[in-house]
Amino acid sequence: MFDIRLTGGKFQDNTFDVIIIGGGPAGLSAAIYSGRARLKTLLIESMAVGGQITLTEYIENYPGFEKPILGQELAEKMEKQARRFGVEIRYAEATSVSLKDDEKRVYLSGEGNGHLKSKVVMLALGTNPRKLGVPGEEEFTGRGVSYCAPCDAPLFKDKHVIVVGGGDTAVEESLFLTKFAKKVSIVHRRNKLRAIPILQERVANNPKIDFIFDSVVRKIRGDAKVESATIENLKDGKDEELKCDGVFIFVGLEPQTALVKNEVKCDEKGFIVTNEDMETNIKGVYAIGDVRVKSLRQVVTAVSDGAIAAMAAYKYVAEDTEFKSALQNLR
Ligand code: NAP
Repeated sequence: MFDIRLTGGKFQDNTFDVIIIGGGPAGLSAAIYSGRARLKTLLIESMAVGGQITLTEYIENYPGFEKPILGQELAEKMEKQARRFGVEIRYAEATSVSLKDDEKRVYLSGEGNGHLKSKVVMLALGTNPRKLGVPGEEEFTGRGVSYCAPCDAPLFKDKHVIVVGGGDTAVEESLFLTKFAKKVSIVHRRNKLRAIPILQERVANNPKIDFIFDSVVRKIRGDAKVESATIENLKDGKDEELKCDGVFIFVGLEPQTALVKNEVKCDEKGFIVTNEDMETNIKGVYAIGDVRVKSLRQVVTAVSDGAIAAMAAYKYVAEDTEFKSALQNLR
């Protein structure tokens, strides 16, 4: 039987083959493949591993799980699997990077000029929820405005909440909110949801959910907390004041690229451009998961990115090592 000797832990020095920044499914998958390829691998995560999936209640479309699995549970399984292959996981924030040279550098918060060195850096930086950008949104964030149903839904027991957006996230989170709220009104700017059909069927059959189509939220009002929202009907241009206790905003994702946007090439929306090996415009720098330009943002595509990047990195590190030892022999 295969003998697993490596158990993960802390490496003695700060020089690595692969540093992965970000511990969502893409980063964890890259860590599993990289660790299994016996590359000296460090994964850096600023919060908790799992990324977006820890903010999702159940995942029902990840192959291999006949019944829906809790996002948190799936993340824990991936983390344990990565540690089993000797990957070190460090909880810290990467504050700056230097990627252009062969030896990449990653600086961590609280470590002054001290830095980590690596042949390869993988950017698994993920996304943040996009803001709606209306008056009251910022003021009432945490006081009725939210971007995460599993985090905040219990605060809205027997209340009326508005959900803004018509994509998979808005619809899934609306369904979750109905476990607590007495009514959920989905406000969408078109007359048709963007979410996949199975989710549309579920919301259509949920008696707690109603729809306000062809409409946008213009303002969020209240005193100490949210009390109403001004909703404009885009067809007739009329405003209506809708009483509500909360506004959940799910209008898409923004890439978290502040750390690297001056170094790697991004598209006009700020997502990192890669080739099919997940390599960016810089040799030895890969971008994986939701942060890169791609057509489908799912757990299954994130883990695929991680695997592809790790195998490309393995080849890159092997060629680099061979090249350097051949050079050594010539001297
Ligand atoms: P999304 O697919 O980009 O949808 C964003 C929604 O917000 C759209 O309905 C859009 O309207 C609306 N919107 C955008 N800007 C707006 C604005 N300024 N005012 C009002 N409405 C606005 O984003 P998402 O739902 O967060 O999903 C992101 C990705 O994650 C997708 O690839 C999705 O498939 C994936 N995802 C998958 C699952 C799953 O598989 N279970 C769950 C969640 C998310 P329009 O429709 O008019 O453009």
